[in-house]
Amino acid sequence: MNERDSEAVSGLLLEKGYTQTPSMDGADVILVNTCSVRDHAEQKVFGRLGHFKKLKEENPRLVIGIIGCMAQEHGGNFFKRNPEIDLVCGPGNLNQIPDLIDEIKTARVGTKARASRLAVDKLNDEYGLDNVRYRSDKTKALVTIMTGCDHRCTYCIVPYTRGDERSRRPESILREIKDLDARGFKDVMLLGQNVNSYGKGLEEKIDFAGLLEKIQEAAPGIPRLRFITSHPKDAHTRLFQAMRDLPMVCEHLHLPVQSGSDLVLRRMKREHTADWYLKQVEEYRRAAPEGTLTTDLIVGFPGETDKDFLGTMSLVEKAQFDSAFIFQYSPRPGTPAMKLRDDIPREEKARRHQALLSLQRSVGLKKNQSMIGKTVEVLFESRTRKDGARFVGRTRGYKRVVGGAGRDVTGKLLSVRITGVADETLLGEIVP
Ligand code: SAH
Ligand code: SF4
Repeated sequence: MNERDSEAVSGLLLEKGYTQTPSMDGADVILVNTCSVRDHAEQKVFGRLGHFKKLKEENPRLVIGIIGCMAQEHGGNFFKRNPEIDLVCGPGNLNQIPDLIDEIKTARVGTKARASRLAVDKLNDEYGLDNVRYRSDKTKALVTIMTGCDHRCTYCIVPYTRGDERSRRPESILREIKDLDARGFKDVMLLGQNVNSYGKGLEEKIDFAGLLEKIQEAAPGIPRLRFITSHPKDAHTRLFQAMRDLPMVCEHLHLPVQSGSDLVLRRMKREHTADWYLKQVEEYRRAAPEGTLTTDLIVGFPGETDKDFLGTMSLVEKAQFDSAFIFQYSPRPGTPAMKLRDDIPREEKARRHQALLSLQRSVGLKKNQSMIGKTVEVLFESRTRKDGARFVGRTRGYKRVVGGAGRDVTGKLLSVRITGVADETLLGEIVP
C-alpha cells in the first residue's frame, strides 16, 4: 500500500512539472514514505535523518518531508526532534503535498523563519488519491480499493495511523482498471488492509466478490487480478467461488493467521481460532486445488508459552503454506497490547523466529519441488541482474520463476516448464 501511495505522490508531483532525480544528492525535494507497523522500520527512518541534516546544510533550499504512517503517529514531534524536517504529512493528506511544498517555498522567501507544514487532519476522510494515472511499471499495477481498518488486533497500529475502514466507490475503481486494461497492463493487484470487507458504508450494495465480478466484466483484457490482504474472519464462500469462477482472478490467497494458539489468538483479538482457519484453508483448496496460500505470523506475543508456539509450528505443518512472512512481536505505542508485558526475551523471540522460518522453508521447498515437470503460465517482469539472458517472472500463484530466453520476454505471458528449484525460486524453460 505504501508503494502505491509513493507512486501516487510521485505522479502528483510529476504532473506539476517536477522530475525524479536518480539519487537524493541534488534533489530539491526529498519525501520519505514511512511505515509504523514494527519498531524496526521506524528506527531505520530515524537513523537516516542525520544524513538529511547534512544535505540540508549543503542545500538550504531543500524541502524534506516525512509522509505516511510515522507522520500520522508522531505528528509535530518530528519538528522538535529533527528541525531539518519541513513537512510532516499523514496518509489521509497526501493529495495536498504539491500545495504544501509550494506554501513552504513561498513562505521561505525573504524570511529566516522556518516554514514548516503539518498535515495530519484527514485521517478518516475519503481516499483522496483516485485519479493519479502515473505508474512506475508497465505490466503490473497496484490499485487501492479501500483504506483503514475496523478490526482492532491488539498488536496493530494500522487503525490508528490509517484510520477507520473506508471503501473506494466502485465507479472510481472500475474507471482506473478500465484505463489499465486499455494501456495493456497484465497484472492488477487490489490493495486494502482487509479487502474482504469491501463495500461497508458505500451507498451501492456491493461486497468484495461483487467487485471482482464487476472488474471481470469491465476489463476482461487484463489476464491477472489479485488482491491483498484478506482477514480470515471476513473471507467467505463467495470469495472462494469468485476465485474459482472468474478467469482473471489468480489462484493466490494471502491469509494472515498470526498464531496457531487459540489463547494467543484471543489475546490478539483476531476473532478466529486455529481450527476455523484450517477449515477456511480446506474450503479454499477445494475451490482452487492448484492455488497457492501465503500468510503472516507473529512469534513472541506477550504470554506466548512453548506450548502456544508449538501450536503455531503445528498449524504451519497442517496449512502447508507456500511461503510466510514471519515477524517477532514489536510493541507499538497506543495499541491495546501495550497493556500486556512484553515478556518474551529477545533471544527467545529470535529462537522461535528461526525455528518457524526453517520449518516454513522446508514446507515451502517441498511444495516447490512438487512443481518440477509441470508447465505453468509466467508473466515475465525483468532481466535477472546477474545474467542478461535470463528473465524473472511470476506464476499466477505469485511464485518467482527464472527462465532463459534468447530474446527480450519482459511483459510477456509465456508457458514455462519447471525444471528445478533454488531456494524460493522456481527454475524453468520457456516452452517454444
Ligand atoms: N491488514 C493486514 C496487514 C497488517 S500489517 C492484515 O490484517 O494482515 C502486516 C503484518 O505485520 C501483520 O499481518 C502482522 O503479521 C505484522 N504485524 C503487525 N503489527 C505487528 C507488531 N506489533 N509486531 C510484529 N508484527 C506485526
Ligand atoms: Fe491490523 Fe488486524 Fe486491521 Fe490487519 S486486520 S490492519 S492486523 S488491525
